[in-house]
Amino acid sequence: MSTQAFVETIISLGSNVEKERYLPEAIRLLRRHRRIEVRKVSRFFESAPVGGPPGSPDFFNAAVVACTDLPPQELRQELRHIENVLGRQRTEDKNAPRTIDLDIAYYGDTQAEFDGWQLPDPEAATAPHVAIPIADVAPSFVDPVSEKTAYDLMLKVDADTEAVRPVSSIRLATPYESRGPEEFDQAGDVYAPQLEAIVRSQLLEIGENPDREGLVRTPLRVAKALDFLTNGYATSLSEVVNNAVFDAEGADEMVLVKDIEFYSMCEHHMLPFFGRAAVAYLPKGRIIGLSKVARVVDLFARRLQVQERLTNQVADAMTEILDPLGVGVVIEGQHLCMMMRGVQKQDSSTVTSAMRGTFKSDPRTRSEFINLAQG
Ligand code: ZN
Repeated sequence: MSTQAFVETIISLGSNVEKERYLPEAIRLLRRHRRIEVRKVSRFFESAPVGGPPGSPDFFNAAVVACTDLPPQELRQELRHIENVLGRQRTEDKNAPRTIDLDIAYYGDTQAEFDGWQLPDPEAATAPHVAIPIADVAPSFVDPVSEKTAYDLMLKVDADTEAVRPVSSIRLATPYESRGPEEFDQAGDVYAPQLEAIVRSQLLEIGENPDREGLVRTPLRVAKALDFLTNGYATSLSEVVNNAVFDAEGADEMVLVKDIEFYSMCEHHMLPFFGRAAVAYLPKGRIIGLSKVARVVDLFARRLQVQERLTNQVADAMTEILDPLGVGVVIEGQHLCMMMRGVQKQDSSTVTSAMRGTFKSDPRTRSEFINLAQG
């Protein structure tokens, strides 16, 4: 597997058509992109439009710090794709109202000219509606052209602080995994407007009142939880493995990581199944940091799954990363869709295994693994 470099990038966002919806949706699509890892999101800022037809509505702007292994041109294409998904129509007038505008403000310290655009985005250092959100999310980031920090650039362009002001009416909720108690969510927080609307409809369908006190913020919480429980779709194997594969000449003993706790959701009912995995390999000159093995399991567990496929995907990923002599994976899981219906014994569990290379061809290696995994 090739190891691409991950680059820190700052993406600026703007919307002035249904902006309460499209700005959060765009941030969610960035979070859900497999090769873009969102690290930090600015507050939302509001500003009057620059140019555009008379009477154009005000903008919401924000900035995101992300890591990516996409080269700049491909990252830009992916941003264009997200704009299209969110209904952006490009017209002759580059200042026309738009559902969403996504631009690469910075791509590491890259300074480059492309066909019709450049890095850094010149507006990052000159336009208040771009510079102020960037200073909010990454104040100490150094602009490679001026060698000034984003904070200093913001002070320079921010002649009129009234022109770009923080939005107080709506706030982006933080993801499920980044905070503990959910009391931190406040009225007016949004996360994934479209998904939240669907959860609200589900509540109505089952005869609930989504406006009663206990359920008011349930759509928000479910959207956040669902994103977390399925974030395997939003993560790449190279991001998980990043820098943790080492050359180990002469390492020829079986490496086993067992009792790896996992939580997944069955694709038939979207109900949890959970249990423990044991993952072993026989190295051929390359080893991986032990904590990464559990992350490889999570990468595939946090999707809609069947246990057999989960087992095979972990085995194939280990093979891809390490090109070892062999791989063995055993997973034991309990499925709530069976347990809650009582169709099977409630303490029953399902065991699946996948063997590759010598674990498949050599009975002694296989039985050594099975013995160690059960011990
Ligand atoms: Zn099921």
